[in-house]
Amino acid sequence: MTDASVESFWARGVAEGWSDIDEAVAAAADHVGKPVVVREEAFLSTEPVCGFVATLEHQHLVMISPTTSETFRSFVIGHELGHVLHRHHEHAAQSAYVRDVIPDVPEYKVERALARGLFSNDYEHEAELFADRLAALIRSNRGRPSAFRGVFG
Ligand SMILES: [Zn+2]
Repeated sequence: MTDASVESFWARGVAEGWSDIDEAVAAAADHVGKPVVVREEAFLSTEPVCGFVATLEHQHLVMISPTTSETFRSFVIGHELGHVLHRHHEHAAQSAYVRDVIPDVPEYKVERALARGLFSNDYEHEAELFADRLAALIRSNRGRPSAFRGVFG
């Protein structure tokens, strides 16, 4: 995915006024033309990473450590969306870790995956910047009146 494509994702976020991470997840799935599924996985709470994304044949599967912090959850998911939107799975081969930690889910065809927090490289840096920018976008829309939030409080 080109930078122009990522920029159009940001333009959409501004236009639609995303105020929570789930809106961004839905938009990301639409943007890349593939479902983005977020699952909380208890096994991750004992792993050094708090989230990763596995690019499967028919979906991007984002697995995150269970948390009660909405801010933390948003950031971890935002980081993984960064990998998806920047199409890092097409460049990096860091799937060995994922196969190690989820050996009991052979039904998932893990093509390539990236783990958050375990690797330090340009991909991780780009994903962190993406998560920062998404968090700022969501924060900026939180305070804005919206017809929907007016109804639901
Ligand atoms: Zn990462």
